[in-house]
Amino acid sequence: MGEVTVRLDDLPLRDDLRGMTPYGAPQAALPVALNVNENTHPVPSEVADDILDAVARALRDVNRYPDREFTGLREAFAGYLGHGLNPDQIWAANGSNEVLQHILQAFGGPGRTAMGFAPTYSMYPILTRATGARWIVGEREHDFTLSPESAAAQVREQRPDIVFLCAPNNPTGTPLRLDVVEAVYDATDGIVIVDEAYEEFAPRDEPSAVSLLPDRPRLVVSRTMSKAFAFAGARVGYLAADPALVDALRLVRLPYHLSALTQAAATAALGHAETMLSMVDEIVAQRDRISATVSALGYTAHESWTNFVLFGGVDDPAATWKALYDRGVLIRDVGIAHHLRVTAGTADETTAFLDALASVGSRS
Ligand SMILES: *Cc1c(COP(=O)(O)O)cnc(C)c1O
Repeated sequence: MGEVTVRLDDLPLRDDLRGMTPYGAPQAALPVALNVNENTHPVPSEVADDILDAVARALRDVNRYPDREFTGLREAFAGYLGHGLNPDQIWAANGSNEVLQHILQAFGGPGRTAMGFAPTYSMYPILTRATGARWIVGEREHDFTLSPESAAAQVREQRPDIVFLCAPNNPTGTPLRLDVVEAVYDATDGIVIVDEAYEEFAPRDEPSAVSLLPDRPRLVVSRTMSKAFAFAGARVGYLAADPALVDALRLVRLPYHLSALTQAAATAALGHAETMLSMVDEIVAQRDRISATVSALGYTAHESWTNFVLFGGVDDPAATWKALYDRGVLIRDVGIAHHLRVTAGTADETTAFLDALASVGSRS
């Protein structure tokens, strides 16, 4: 590294970026890492072999730019989502964070606003402000639920250009039912984004907001391969929406934003969706085991439809986080008073966390 010659404050940084802090979940090489809601099961080896073959084939043509319209991948996502979706209703990018960024670049920006209901995904305000738009903080009930009446009333009052509904919600795990989506959609003329990053961990018979897309041209449902699909390192997110809305995203994306290697890897992985998702039931079982065990230890586990559990009743979250860290277990202090969040890992990882938490004792 070169010598530091100026401080950030001395650079001609955009005024609206001064004082902001970047996304910063700690990355530490601990034996048990349950802090960023990854799927901790590795990609099954037969799928990994297939992905490797597809990437190897793509590599032979890597002197050429990739298919800018990622046609094959869009067909694969449309097929995976079902509901009779067509490829022209699908968009994808390098993680659903980039998908969300494209929506904000097209529909947010200076003079515009985006709104979410706190506590919610920490990237929403960061992505919003990075496009020059203003972030509006809505409220939830004390148990982190959000009713259709309350959500719609807040949206009517604030009149945001974009509304984020995280369903189920990160970092609380809270379910968000379709009546909230319908009420919010009817309460605004703006874009409504339903972020279903954790949809595959919800009860099987619960409908996805994808079922609401017909006749709702301002509705967007975003998904990711980072969680259920065990593909966080490949960086692949996607959305379903009206073809006109998808078309608008072409105005802001970088040309060839999805590399040929990414397209090949994701398409191959989607061909094995069933195998890739076979760990979901196991993860849900570990999640429910976490909820039951932390409750037995005297904490309060919040209802979760995700692959993580937010638990309260922690006297000193920073101290408990550090005590677990010292025992080789990394979880997340999400900044909610007296709460910590833990991702459901493999059975062994989950046991390591629960044993470590029990040994910390006295809800310190
Ligand atoms: C993890 C997560 C994402 C996804 O991120 P990627 O960029 O696809 O890895 C999106 N939304 C929420 C709420 C998340 O928790």
